[in-house]
Amino acid sequence: LAGAPARVPGAGPGPLAALVGADLDIPVLGGGRVRHVNLDVAASAPAFTAVAERVARALPYYASVHRGTGYLSQASTAVVDDARVVIARHVGARIDDHVVVTRNTTDALNLLAAAVPGDTVVLDLEHHANLLPWTRRGRRVVVARGTLAATLDALAAELRRTPAALLSVTGASNLTGEVLPLEVLARLAHDHGARFAVDAAQLLPHRRIDLAASGIDYVAFSGHKAYAPFGAGALVGRGDWLDVAPPHLAGGGAVEAVAVDGAEWKRGPERHEAGTPNVIGVAAIAAALAELERLGEPALRAHEAALTGRLHEGLAAIPGVRVLRGFADVDDRLGIATVELERGSVGLVAAALAAEHGISVRAGRFCAHPFFDRIATRANGLRASVGAGTSADDVDRFLDALRRLVASGP
Ligand code: PLP
Repeated sequence: LAGAPARVPGAGPGPLAALVGADLDIPVLGGGRVRHVNLDVAASAPAFTAVAERVARALPYYASVHRGTGYLSQASTAVVDDARVVIARHVGARIDDHVVVTRNTTDALNLLAAAVPGDTVVLDLEHHANLLPWTRRGRRVVVARGTLAATLDALAAELRRTPAALLSVTGASNLTGEVLPLEVLARLAHDHGARFAVDAAQLLPHRRIDLAASGIDYVAFSGHKAYAPFGAGALVGRGDWLDVAPPHLAGGGAVEAVAVDGAEWKRGPERHEAGTPNVIGVAAIAAALAELERLGEPALRAHEAALTGRLHEGLAAIPGVRVLRGFADVDDRLGIATVELERGSVGLVAAALAAEHGISVRAGRFCAHPFFDRIATRANGLRASVGAGTSADDVDRFLDALRRLVASGP
């Protein structure tokens, strides 16, 4: 891609959003250039141009927070404090919830895993980020069933058999896009004396989450999937466990006082945020959430539902392509479709889509190995995902290229 002009910031092809790099022209094999089609937004979504502008405005002012008395330090401190308020408001946090700034969802869930005073139950369909922090501590995994109804029964039976402190479930699968019923799960957890945490890495950029209204106790998410750049995410939720948990990181900013033989750790989010925070990353997240609010969930949902329908209908019409599903009774899904191919290698197809057609998708097992291995019949799948900046033309180009590649068997 060397030499590809990055027209940044640019108006994206999608009718809803301006995204950085959305009008990137890239070279393809055989000569010529095509407009890049990014159908890998479930991995990382390109930043909104509003986010790029916010970052550019914040750059001249960055300094260490909460320590200096100078103008720049005060400005940076305000950026972080204001962003916490934006994040809290966006996810419907309760007044005494903490907003802990983390590196990403993985970081947030590892933090939470160390803070839970008891056992945790998770499902086997989780991304590794909501599986490994628990399984490495010997926490329990319930294998999801072929229907959501049977899965809820299995979860209830597990929580009845042996009580747990927490149920932690993804808001939407990064493999199938299937959306889980968060209010139902929160009630199920609470009825069994457990708290409820949501891995919202996939869900938050596409659906409004409301902790207070839904009874969700903790939510984790990443900026880079929500149209902000890399490096910052958050864990939002009940302060009591977090205030007495071992500090996620040990160092400056997390302590009230330090002696050579010990420390008095702060309470509140800063207990877990030792070191200089990612001021720019947090400002970017706040700007992305504000832009999502400006675009509005109904408009985003309608846009993405139309594209998702187009994607699934198109895939169903290609012979030799099978779309993976976890639940026979879940129709609500994000703009994600993972397929397996009857013949040929998804790795080669994905490479040909990129090199010959300028279309980015993902091939593999998507950091959800147990789930993939349970519902797939092949070793690897190919995932296409859409978002605010995707257009119908993007989806059509993908379907057309996939149809031709599958027919010619690369
Ligand atoms: N959870 C889900 C459902 C995801 O899809 C991902 C990333 O793909 C993660 C967690 C991990 O996100 P991050 O790599 O930003 O920590």
